Amino acid sequence: MRRTKVIATVGPASLSPQIIGALVDAGADVLRLNCSHVDTDGLRERIRSVRAVRPEVAILVDIQGPKLRYSGEPRVFQDGDVCTFTFTELGLPESRSHGDGGLQAGQRILLHDGRIETVIEQVAGTWPDGNVTVRVLHGGALQTNKGVNLPDTEVMGSVLSDKDRADLEVAKREHVEFVGVSFVQRPSDIEEVRSLLGPTCHVIAKIERPQALERIDEICRVSNGVMAARGDLGVELPFQVVPAAQHKIARTALRNGVISICATEMLESMTTSSRATRAEVADVAGAVRDGFDAVMLSGETAVGVDPVRAVEVMCAICEAAERDVVLPPIFADANPSTAAVTAAASSLARRVGADAMLSLTYTGHSVRLLAACRPGSAIIAATPSLETARKLRLVWGVHAVVAERNTDVEVAIGAGLAAARDRGMLRHGDKVVVCASRLSLRSDADTIWLHIEP
Ligand code: PGA
Ligand code: MN
Repeated sequence: MRRTKVIATVGPASLSPQIIGALVDAGADVLRLNCSHVDTDGLRERIRSVRAVRPEVAILVDIQGPKLRYSGEPRVFQDGDVCTFTFTELGLPESRSHGDGGLQAGQRILLHDGRIETVIEQVAGTWPDGNVTVRVLHGGALQTNKGVNLPDTEVMGSVLSDKDRADLEVAKREHVEFVGVSFVQRPSDIEEVRSLLGPTCHVIAKIERPQALERIDEICRVSNGVMAARGDLGVELPFQVVPAAQHKIARTALRNGVISICATEMLESMTTSSRATRAEVADVAGAVRDGFDAVMLSGETAVGVDPVRAVEVMCAICEAAERDVVLPPIFADANPSTAAVTAAASSLARRVGADAMLSLTYTGHSVRLLAACRPGSAIIAATPSLETARKLRLVWGVHAVVAERNTDVEVAIGAGLAAARDRGMLRHGDKVVVCASRLSLRSDADTIWLHIEP
């Protein structure tokens, strides 16, 4: 069973019920809906159609956040040009209308997703009538609607636009499992989103600004997960530091016991071709070695020529890469007491060469503690809740089954094993390390059993 989870973005190339079903059959654990390319009503429709086709799959709604887009006329810039943009041309929204939007002389403004580099010489006036004069360091042609990045500017005010708030409301009402928050800068951005969403939806902080990378540890502590959003991160930071940044993101998430996702351009050439480049194969394998819970497909499945093939290729690379990757006990070492029982279960499983582990879990918390120990065998999570089972689809190594949770733990283990057996996850003679709580249904695991499948 594959351990690394696969997220596929659903877009124009994959909206039909047939393709949605085929993506899941090919191995997609989570389907992502990108709010940058759909309005709020369209988002609601897409969530409902995914749910109708595959009720077992988890949904990640990726909200746009303060992504700036150039709204002026097309222009061509030469190196050394001095020119002026209005705040509205730079796409600065009203939520950033705090006077000068935080812009100051000496900061860079990157246009067309980093292709054009400028530095601010002067800021005049305030939103909406203010303007900024820049000197062009690297010129080029700029078209309307291309991305604008302000890598040196700390954005004041809310991370959320009006559309983001409307999209969050839809995500909440439709009970999606995960919301991704773009351009997070600080822990309070996540807290703001969580206060709007309530406690059940899990919040993923997209790390795509240098300010977020600097505070990655604090952000992990308030998030359910983090995403190495390498597209914008590679614009806001020099591209050559992105590999080290993604490694740091994966390892910091693991130390904190939260989910990590590696995203963007992973199999980029498959957007137009049926075959991945060797460099892309190595990139996906590298993400597995970094210790990410999940890898993500964006354009490859949203607008690509063969979305289902992209998922198949991604799954095959992960499975092959996992064979020789053993991660150090980062989580267990950093959390000796929280992880005590699950780390012991995980090393027992290694010692006896277990075929599987079984974790009884209610909210998913105990199985997350187990998965963060990165055991060598597959983890079967038995939970009475379909919602928990869906959320666990993003957790490294976990395969959830829905089974009744009897108050008698022995009965509950029997039900979990039976459900796993029904799904073909266990065979005669398999060694299973079971990890559960005898104390109460909702407390952390306190006991380890060794089961041999009859
Ligand atoms: P996006 O985020 O696709 O929403 O831009 C991912 C990234 O920037 O890598
Ligand atoms: Mn981005």
